[in-house]
Amino acid sequence: MLEPEPTIVCIDCGGTCHLLTHPPEDGAWEPGDIVAYRCQDCRDRWDLVLPDEDGDDE
Ligand SMILES: [Zn+2]
Repeated sequence: MLEPEPTIVCIDCGGTCHLLTHPPEDGAWEPGDIVAYRCQDCRDRWDLVLPDEDGDDE
C-alpha cells in the first residue's frame, strides 16, 4: 500500500523531518499526492510527491 514515510532525513541539516500532511480520510494515498514535512532542527519545509507505483517492481 502506498504510504509516505512518517519521518525523513533533512536534506539540509541531517535532522529529522516529521510528516505534516494528514492522511486522507479513507487512508488511501494516491500517486502524485504532495506530502509536506517539517524539519525539527532547521524548521525547513519539504514537499515530496508520492511516486507512481506502476511499473518497475512487479
Ligand atoms: Zn533541517
